[in-house]
Amino acid sequence: MSAAAPSVTVISGCAIATVDPSGTEYRTGHLVVEGSRIIEVGDGPADPSWRDRAAAWIDGSGMLATPGLVNTHHHLYQWITRGYAQDETLFGWLTSLYPVCAGIDEETVNASASANLGWMALSGTTLTTDHHYVFPKNGGDVLGATIAGAQTIGLRFHPTRGSMDLGTASGGLPPESVVESTDAALAATEAALDRWHDPSSESMLQIAVAPCSPFSVTRELMTGAAEIARAHGARLHTHLCETLDEEAFCLEKYGRKPGEYVEDLGWLGPDVWFAHVVWPTTEDIARFAATGTAVAHCPTSNARLGSGIAPVADMLKAGVPIGLGVDGSASNESGRMDDELHQALLVARLRGGSTSMSARQVLAMATMGGARVLGRQDDLGSLEVGKLADIALWRVDGIGGADIADPLCALVFGLRSPLELLLVGGKAIVEHEQLVNADVHDLAQRSAAASATLAKRAGR
Ligand SMILES: [Zn+2]
Repeated sequence: MSAAAPSVTVISGCAIATVDPSGTEYRTGHLVVEGSRIIEVGDGPADPSWRDRAAAWIDGSGMLATPGLVNTHHHLYQWITRGYAQDETLFGWLTSLYPVCAGIDEETVNASASANLGWMALSGTTLTTDHHYVFPKNGGDVLGATIAGAQTIGLRFHPTRGSMDLGTASGGLPPESVVESTDAALAATEAALDRWHDPSSESMLQIAVAPCSPFSVTRELMTGAAEIARAHGARLHTHLCETLDEEAFCLEKYGRKPGEYVEDLGWLGPDVWFAHVVWPTTEDIARFAATGTAVAHCPTSNARLGSGIAPVADMLKAGVPIGLGVDGSASNESGRMDDELHQALLVARLRGGSTSMSARQVLAMATMGGARVLGRQDDLGSLEVGKLADIALWRVDGIGGADIADPLCALVFGLRSPLELLLVGGKAIVEHEQLVNADVHDLAQRSAAASATLAKRAGR
């Protein structure tokens, strides 16, 4: 018996922003997906002969198709620690939150991650990272708990095995209750890569290596982590140049600014991406551009914590690869990727004026930029024949956007375009603004219970 032919989905009559190298757009176009990949994208309606073969034929009139959004920096466990430390800067906020997150375990993290990933999907995200760096001694398999959450929702997932080994006793910021020994962190990182990392072109799951930050990690852990990641062909990630407090810490402890410190450690290259980079020096920007070192720009979190506005237009101009990120939910209570597009546009213009960032540049950062940051540019990030069918289909025909001159403007300028359909590898995970694989009420109930458990454990 021969295997069944891969199923075909046709979307016809929608506006399309392909984000291909020429920035091709169609005012009324079509997409054909076969199995997990795009086999046609073009102008005008789809060929009617596809109707005989298509398992699904979607009338896309009044809609905009874009590549699925790519979230390049997140902390999924923070969904259940939202609402704390509302008026703190980064260091004050972290110091308030550490005792709460010390109480996480496998069950609470799964509840947090599942709800958070459901929310990410509902905001048009098809691929997200997660920077998980808190591994309490009796917490069980918390990294596995986030992976199970992604599998439930159906998202493509690039979690990191993060780590912290520089506690207060050694001059770091986090309390000893949330740090590991250097050796334990390195061994667990290697084990996570061996167990889960899938580098294939269709991959739904890739592990990156991510010691947390210069003020919570030793030099030894940074260099050991880089060795392990490079031996496994995995990527490296950490927080960098986020605040001036971090810069002062690095000057005091290492005698170097953050960008100089990571250069000393061998942490530059096309396999490295840094979260934030709000305060790079001119030399840092040149260094990142020359080495292909990438950046996850998180404008909402930077604004929420009052950290500053990253010089994104300057970094793009220099050739630094940049993606967008929502950052952890406890410093961006919204955590929606469509909101992040809007904030990226606004903060860039607050810093550099009205011509410093366009809607199209923002969409490119949130899609192709993110794919490049995560090393998936050959298979993801744009709507082109041969690429994986990670596609977001937004409604721009309602009261919010029907009369607008440019559908992409509706999406990026913040008109909140309802999400009609979200495909990951050709499979629908959101339809008509509803999750296909999970019930939002169950997710909310479980995460609320987990949040209450954590508060109780922390004596709040
Ligand atoms: Zn972060």
